[in-house]
Amino acid sequence: MTTNAPAKFKPYTRQTISNARQWDWLAPDLQEAVQVVSHVLPFRTNEYVLDQLIDWNNIPDDPIYRLVFPHRDMLAPNDYARLRELVLGNANPAALAALVRKLRLQMNPHPAGQMTHNVPHLEGVPLRGLQHKYQETVLFFPSAGQTCHAYCTFCFRWPQFVGMDDLKFDARESTGLAAYLKTQPHMTDVLITGGDPLVMNTRSLEAIIEPLLAPELAHIQNIRIGTKSVAYWPQRFVSDRDADDLLRLFERVVAAGENMAIMGHYNHAVELRQEIAQQAVKRIVGTGATLRMQGPLIRHINEDPKSWAELWQTGVRLGAIPYYMFVERDTGPHDYFQLPLVRAHEIFQAAYQMVSGLARTVRGPSMSAFPGKVVIDGVVTIGGEKVFALQFLQARNPDWVRRPFYARFDAQATWLDELKPAFGQDKFFFEEAGGSRSEHGHGHALAGERKVIQLVTAGSRAA
Ligand code: SF4
Repeated sequence: MTTNAPAKFKPYTRQTISNARQWDWLAPDLQEAVQVVSHVLPFRTNEYVLDQLIDWNNIPDDPIYRLVFPHRDMLAPNDYARLRELVLGNANPAALAALVRKLRLQMNPHPAGQMTHNVPHLEGVPLRGLQHKYQETVLFFPSAGQTCHAYCTFCFRWPQFVGMDDLKFDARESTGLAAYLKTQPHMTDVLITGGDPLVMNTRSLEAIIEPLLAPELAHIQNIRIGTKSVAYWPQRFVSDRDADDLLRLFERVVAAGENMAIMGHYNHAVELRQEIAQQAVKRIVGTGATLRMQGPLIRHINEDPKSWAELWQTGVRLGAIPYYMFVERDTGPHDYFQLPLVRAHEIFQAAYQMVSGLARTVRGPSMSAFPGKVVIDGVVTIGGEKVFALQFLQARNPDWVRRPFYARFDAQATWLDELKPAFGQDKFFFEEAGGSRSEHGHGHALAGERKVIQLVTAGSRAA
């Protein structure tokens, strides 16, 4: 195999990052930001990301550096200053813990009602580690899959990595998954997700997946795995000790007549320029599994339509299927990463126009909001009023799916709950049907005041 990628997975965290040879290449203020901000937001990277994906001649603007390394701009200036004082000043641990908790709670840790509204029950007992939001799909969070090969700074699952969420559950509860599915004959899809379930070894994955192939669960047609390993650790499919076993597992699912669907999270074209990442795609699709490409649009990281076009085109050439461009969720350092919806639509459209019909399987920009997945189809003027044309691609109520609806144009809006119905209406049609735009009604109960934080580039820092 001709690759320089390390054969063994080697992670780095706040405690160990100073051992990486690249650490000394960072200016002291960037090092400080990593040490300070990583008390609030989780930080983890690995040798492959450091060696192969980050361009160290382009720090701090390199997109993958922005993707995995915490920056001071991810916190409001006052918050950063107070935190810095406590971290560097060796203040008492209780004061530090209290501030960290406060800052985390300001970041809307549970967007789209994921902790309260989607937990299914079996015989009246809530099933921890499961979510059931859409009628045909259940999400399963295996306890051993609740970390990732590296952490994305924008991640909406970040509370799990810092111990705020109690989504975890022990392995024997995977029997709870099968038992629940038996009671749901209309259900067709299981999404195994995390974190990243592919941090688990193949034997543990088999223990989850094999029972889903049982004859009494014949209604389960699609077994999906959500993973970022395709980008952060493609060795998982190529050179890890049990990589071949993993591919054999995919083949068994396909041989059983089911669709093994890998939902690959990609953020930037650079992630698929590596030879080993391309090998991983070919090996996955070579098993008969499908690989769909999805990821959020994030300011400072992937605003360039050309990057999206290259990513989708390369993926199609290798056998993957472009699937979703998401709007960044309203959680974590959202002020740092968010883009106005109108800009998100422009970027999607520009990228879409650059690719052939084979890559136009992609949909977006899509908001995974409380009532469902809402895509921005465009900006149009109807009867003299400038509006956003929207529709549900997925919804809590299946009747809402693919019904066009309209919102007043708002050049600043970044999320569904900031939009107002067009044409003088008080409510969107789904609100009249009892739905809501957000878990908390029409506002971010926990998000605090909105602010725009300017990007600190290498140039402006020098100035
Ligand atoms: S890989 Fe996915 S779950 Fe893991 S940190 Fe990134 S966005 Fe979050």
